[in-house]
Amino acid sequence: MTAAAAKTPTLAGRLAREVQVGVADCDQCGKCSAGCPVASEMDSTPSRLLHMLQLELPQHEEQVLRSRTLWLCVGCETCVTRCPKEVDLPRAMDFLRREALARGIAHRDGRDVIAFHRAFLHSVEWVGRLFELGMIGEYKLRSGHLFQDMTAAPAMFLRGKVGLLPHGRAKVARLFERVRAAEKEEEAKRTASGADR
Ligand code: SF4
Ligand code: SF4
Repeated sequence: MTAAAAKTPTLAGRLAREVQVGVADCDQCGKCSAGCPVASEMDSTPSRLLHMLQLELPQHEEQVLRSRTLWLCVGCETCVTRCPKEVDLPRAMDFLRREALARGIAHRDGRDVIAFHRAFLHSVEWVGRLFELGMIGEYKLRSGHLFQDMTAAPAMFLRGKVGLLPHGRAKVARLFERVRAAEKEEEAKRTASGADR
């Protein structure tokens, strides 16, 4: 191992230092995976993901960052509630998603998830709350899934699930400005932390 490689902090080390999630605390009881509502769709269950991180080997870390699991986690916190060691998995997932994107190795499903989140936030920023039709249109353009679920549209209109017009405008611009400032601050910290490594 080169001196540079020896100095490179592992993902487990960075999780502990940067977001205070102790991967080593996990004793692999499996309660998180048993309660996770989307575990059956994941390529690695939450507890397996933690096990791979515990091994602290580059090939396992890359497997974690490339996994679909990161993009299926909905942040429901069921796992933390069940965990006897209070391992904050949703917080770890947030960190790992950012890291996967920063390294350019995020699972392809991540693009759709990000497209959905951006379309949702633009809708809220634009009209102050969700404007379904606008959000669906933007999501389809961003994701490229132009004709996906089109057959469901007529029934959704008839049942009033999708409005044709925005519901009204509210002043949420300041909230978005504060979030963007916080994101910039975090990005600056990450850059500084990367320079220290
Ligand atoms: S927060 Fe994520 S990993 Fe935890 S139970 Fe919910 S979906 Fe599963
Ligand atoms: S519930 Fe907690 S201790 Fe048990 S496997 Fe999941 S993260 Fe590890």
